[in-house]
Amino acid sequence: MRSAVAELLSTREVERHRQLQSLGPDLLGEPFDRGEVVRRMQARGGDPIAEVLIDQRVVAGMGNVFKSEVLFLAGLDPFTPVAALTDADLERAVDISREQLAANVMGRSQTLSPALGRRTTRSLDPNEKLWVYSRGGRPCRRCGAVIQSRKTGPDARLTYWCPTCQPPPVRA
Ligand SMILES: [Zn+2]
Repeated sequence: MRSAVAELLSTREVERHRQLQSLGPDLLGEPFDRGEVVRRMQARGGDPIAEVLIDQRVVAGMGNVFKSEVLFLAGLDPFTPVAALTDADLERAVDISREQLAANVMGRSQTLSPALGRRTTRSLDPNEKLWVYSRGGRPCRRCGAVIQSRKTGPDARLTYWCPTCQPPPVRA
């Protein structure tokens, strides 16, 4: 009997451990292991940065809206494979993700503020809260180029980007 109970607990523990291991570090976690996130990104080197950044097994907490906004702020083309980006590019994307998520949560409750809504531009104008998300076909707020959008991934989420502010890396 005792061994049966012990076995059940250990199976649960193994399962719990497996689930925890499968989630990436929490973007709002303290302390935050940026190096671990970068390693998990690089393990998916062949995949586009836009898909990797939203994979909760790489980093937990990133949503589809912030994904487009963070890549704009980091100046990264969404469809560039992770392997073609430098460590500095990936570290910058992770740092901006943390900054943006932290700036958009209400205190300790860590929920998005409904009053403010999502905001990444720091503009006080309610019509200018976001850089690129849902702005396909409209001019880039920074350079005036036409914002592009494309459905990506198995669930066809929309990615928005500025082709001028987010050029693909130049091949050496
Ligand atoms: Zn632009």
